Amino acid sequence: MRIVLVGPPGAGKGTQAAYLAKNLAIPHISTGDLFRANISQGTPLGQKAQEYMRAGQLVPDEVTIGMAKDRMHQPDAENGFLLDGFPRNLAQAEALDEILKADGLKLDAVLDLEVPEDEVVKRIAGRRICRKDSSHVFHAIYNQPAAEGVCDTCGGELYQREDDSEETVRKRLEVYHSETEPIIDYYKAQGLVVTISALGKVAEVTQRAMDALPARD
Ligand SMILES: [Zn+2]
Repeated sequence: MRIVLVGPPGAGKGTQAAYLAKNLAIPHISTGDLFRANISQGTPLGQKAQEYMRAGQLVPDEVTIGMAKDRMHQPDAENGFLLDGFPRNLAQAEALDEILKADGLKLDAVLDLEVPEDEVVKRIAGRRICRKDSSHVFHAIYNQPAAEGVCDTCGGELYQREDDSEETVRKRLEVYHSETEPIIDYYKAQGLVVTISALGKVAEVTQRAMDALPARD
């Protein structure tokens, strides 16, 4: 099964991608992992990406597309994959179609995780991270520490990352609307989009997605 996962920041895409890939026995291909792997292995694409990142510039689409293409051609992706973070704009979506077409393949589904915008802001802007260990994560509403501003696990100070401020979240949502949402329409025209609500517990959302995806052959 070849799936693209889309959804706004705060939809829990990474978490769902990991569970779904495991359930479907296909590799989870995330843009973040692609960049990390190519850069740490020093591939030509990784070196190129690093040049742009060091200069504080956006990595051009063709670099990202090249990395995704290499990854999709690895043996473990022969029977399918779940893409997370790619494609993130229309140019990348069209390139993905070309890559698959050249191999005589096509996507089976585009899974769209839907979350109301106010919920996204609440989820992200409420995050509180421990200064001593960033894996100690709390939430001002959903997962409150026993004492305000103090990590339950180690007593470290809790803070809000700059990236998680309401203003930044609203900006990230704007980028999502203008750049990524057009790919949903593009895939709708191909009849590929399956929309599910990303509200509720992680396991419930995973089950909802498994039920909504087309039957496997
Ligand atoms: Zn802590």
